[in-house]
Amino acid sequence: MQEIQETQETQETSYTIEFVCANEDCRKPSSITLETTSGGKRVDPGCFAVVICEECVQKEKEASKKHHIEQKKFQRLEASGFPLDKVAAWSFSDGKRNTALEDWIKEHRDDALWISGFSQIGKTFAMIKVAREEVERGKLVRWVAGGVLIGGYVDAVRDSSAAGSAYIRRFLNCDLLIIDDLDDPGQFSYTAGQLIYKLLDGIKNDRSKQIWITVNLLKGELQKMFKSNNHAVKVEQRLKDRFCIWKG
Ligand SMILES: [Zn+2]
Repeated sequence: MQEIQETQETQETSYTIEFVCANEDCRKPSSITLETTSGGKRVDPGCFAVVICEECVQKEKEASKKHHIEQKKFQRLEASGFPLDKVAAWSFSDGKRNTALEDWIKEHRDDALWISGFSQIGKTFAMIKVAREEVERGKLVRWVAGGVLIGGYVDAVRDSSAAGSAYIRRFLNCDLLIIDDLDDPGQFSYTAGQLIYKLLDGIKNDRSKQIWITVNLLKGELQKMFKSNNHAVKVEQRLKDRFCIWKG
């Protein structure tokens, strides 16, 4: 137990209590001046066994403010659909960082980006890094995994083609749409091709629309996603006209 003692009576109604800060990591001697109650009563000095010093109070306030700010940032990230498990992994290990790609994305951040290349080159991590900055700048960022986007579209067009179009519009209703890991969707290739075609069509006249897409598709695999060669050619042309393309 800490020692608590009363000392120096400055005047009739005020008195000082010396105590040791209750914070285990601090334990600094401190004092507090109090007023007696109207009946001349004093606080039991034993109460100060659990009181922390003013310095520690300030530190706790700072920490709680910082925590609150972090919490808010986190909530915005969560709302954007970010893969938070990957964000955490990235924060703790820089092993997968691809700084060349990070720099390239930063340079072209306001454009439509098509980032192709084999998996495991750090595409997702590089995008997360720059996209977090965009969130902090107040942009409404929407993040969706390629497979999830295609799956949802397949379900929507099963209802009607109007539902499919509405589905795409909903995704484009943000400042920055990020589609991560667009992969060969196998049996849904043609539907996925239609989705890509419509997405590109949706942004072709809106030059301010930011859209970043990472793809694990090889050139031949992309072409196979279209029923007609005509569509494939159009998509390739649109990619060239509208997108900055990273080839890894
Ligand atoms: Zn303290």
